[in-house]
Amino acid sequence: MLSIRGLSAGYGQVRAVHEVSIHLAEGEVVCLIGANGAGKSSLMGAMAGIVSVLAGTVELAGQDITHDRPRQRVRDGLVLVPEGRHLFPSLSVRQNLLVSVAALKLSRAERAQRLEEVVDFFPVLAERQRQLAGTMSGGEQQMLAIGRALMTRPKVLLLDEPSTGLAPALVESVFERIAALRAQGLTVLISEQNAIALTASDRGYVLTGGRVVAEGPADQLAGDADIERIYLGL
Ligand code: ATP
Repeated sequence: MLSIRGLSAGYGQVRAVHEVSIHLAEGEVVCLIGANGAGKSSLMGAMAGIVSVLAGTVELAGQDITHDRPRQRVRDGLVLVPEGRHLFPSLSVRQNLLVSVAALKLSRAERAQRLEEVVDFFPVLAERQRQLAGTMSGGEQQMLAIGRALMTRPKVLLLDEPSTGLAPALVESVFERIAALRAQGLTVLISEQNAIALTASDRGYVLTGGRVVAEGPADQLAGDADIERIYLGL
């Protein structure tokens, strides 16, 4: 469903991602783990079209999208939930959800249908549709950011550090919802420095210095004390 081959990416003279190759089959949940500055956000940004690709390719469902505009990638089904969520704090929950499909020219019935599906999936959003996004807790905002991405009916969801800034109990509830997305068969790539992400994943890649240095089944990586010690700095 998603194939990254030999991808290098960065900012001007700064190369943050070096020859990374990763692959996600349809319905797989894959975790990209690495410490601060490992290059996770840069890699996800390159996939989403907001960080410059210097070499390599990004393929979505067999189609080369390496040089497509970000908005075209969303239409094609690749959607990023950025680190820090980037919601519109002074808009309501409902407006935040609807804004993501504003450019898709959906019928009123289709918009309503998608909204209903998303609030069914995140009951906390159903109760708070009129609340301003900026007044919600961090965990609720993360659910909203994921809900906003789901409104576009993605083929592949990129979740950049969904646990950032959340208390441990909220991290668990966010990962419980990610596990529910996995059960629905959505293809998901999660970047995390919190090894809890491995519990919701099928496979994982370890990133350090912008390079993939290890990969394997999630349970194998989760049981590897060296990975936590060397690459996550725990
Ligand atoms: P974090 O968990 O802190 O977000 P990360 O694994 O997502 O870390 P990146 O944010 O991708 O890592 O950073 C990778 C490298 O790219 C770092 O050396 C960082 O300083 C550099 N970098 C990130 N953003 C920029 C930018 N806008 N301009 C220049 N260098 C950048």
